[in-house]
Amino acid sequence: MKTAEILILGAGYGGIMTTLHLQKLLSIQEGRITLVNKHRYHYQTTLLHENAAGTAHQDNNRVNIDEVIDTKRVNFVQDEVCEIQTAEKRVLLKSGKTLLYDYLVVALGFEPATFGIPGLKEHSFSIRSINEARKIREHIQCTFARYHHEKRDEMLALVVGGAGFTGIEFVGELVERVPVLCKEYDIDPSKVRIINIEAGQTILPGFAPELVNYAYNYLKNRGVEFYLGRMIKTCTPDGVIIAQGDDEEEIKADTVVWTGGVQGNSLVGQCGFPTARGRVEVRKDLRAPHDDHIFVIGDCAVLYDEQTGRPYPPSAQITIQQAEGCAENIKALLKGQPLKEIKPEFKGTVASLGSEEAIGIVFGKIIVGTKAVIMKKIIDNRYLYMLGGFNLLLKKGKFKLF
Ligand code: FAD
Ligand code: NAD
Repeated sequence: MKTAEILILGAGYGGIMTTLHLQKLLSIQEGRITLVNKHRYHYQTTLLHENAAGTAHQDNNRVNIDEVIDTKRVNFVQDEVCEIQTAEKRVLLKSGKTLLYDYLVVALGFEPATFGIPGLKEHSFSIRSINEARKIREHIQCTFARYHHEKRDEMLALVVGGAGFTGIEFVGELVERVPVLCKEYDIDPSKVRIINIEAGQTILPGFAPELVNYAYNYLKNRGVEFYLGRMIKTCTPDGVIIAQGDDEEEIKADTVVWTGGVQGNSLVGQCGFPTARGRVEVRKDLRAPHDDHIFVIGDCAVLYDEQTGRPYPPSAQITIQQAEGCAENIKALLKGQPLKEIKPEFKGTVASLGSEEAIGIVFGKIIVGTKAVIMKKIIDNRYLYMLGGFNLLLKKGKFKLF
């Protein structure tokens, strides 16, 4: 039997978990596994809002890939994927290297969806990677540090565009971070504005109304200004133009963070995969519609939930389950066995509002406050355990309650 070349692109939730499952499932004779990722480290995208606000350091949120994979079984290549040539079954990397595959797993994650809004790409930040999160943290810090020299009000205005889960979790961290920055830079906290703009009529549109109200009141009581039912129309070097019907208003701000939505990595569409909003609608076994040798998982993929008739949300919990199914289906392909339909279970959502408050629905049950904070930590710790066992859990786990 020929040893199959299995190539995994991206070491986020999808790529790293597929790799870990495959290294257990396959013998050396069955498959050679290669994992490619831009950085030498894996990070938890779900914690990036903390890094961006500066409430947690990025080193708490990343782990070197060679510390969690079996380096005797997996060839890790730190490089950037530039092109996937499916007809030739090869992938071109930024370094000039070419990698050949028999089976490919595309797990290249998401990028911000800017919906063609003028100026967003140029003048706003987005919470998409460790490098971007660090830029946001340092920009805010640096702007506060310069305040006493320039004394412009907009230096202390922090605009967050979009009140989905990313926006709300980020605002929750800013509420905690701002007093610390004010103390550090001798700034009167009452001068700082945290402004969250949302096109929908409520924050977290579509989420349980009880929890929407809870989060809204919690954050509003801590000084967050909400502009609901207002669309960001334009982003400029001076701030944003928002609109409600025909009425437009300018909000001046040196810091604009766009959390208005995500799409699949645009590289995938550029390489000829059929995509909608950057995502490939995969078959039930997670293979691309046009190629039996390619699996697409995570935020680059759309998989329909048969029970609801709607796509699963792009989320870490769904991606992690897809990764396990993807590894099992690769094993089945190699053995000439039938592939199984992947049906992830959506267990619910827990969102933080800073380190001391959270909201969530878990298996249909609403939780808030301490229970939700503990649940969030359990979710994060469980993932660390899956990734690197007890050692990693002890090193990076969250055990402090408040
Ligand atoms: P990612 O985790 O984004 O991984 C993609 C990987 O590919 C990255 O390592 C990246 O560096 C690499 N990569 C990208 N392009 C290239 C290239 N060209 N070459 C090489 N490597 C490349 N979901 C939840 O379920 N629960 C939560 O609490 C939650 N919180 C979130 C909080 C925030 C702030 C954000 C932004 C998202 C959150 N999500 C949450 C959504 C979740 O993070 C994503 O759905 C999940 O990360 C998708 O996993 P992935 O493997 O597809 O992509
Ligand atoms: P999202 O699409 O869920 O939310 C974006 C928000 O921005 C929406 O409420 C939308 O109405 C608003 N918006 C869009 N255009 C706008 C405009 N021009 N002006 C003002 N508002 C505008 O995106 P997200 O919050 O980044 O979440 C992405 C995915 O990640 C989702 O599936 C989400 O469930 C998941 N996620 C989960 C968690 C969690 O479980 N704790 C945390 C973060 C993200």
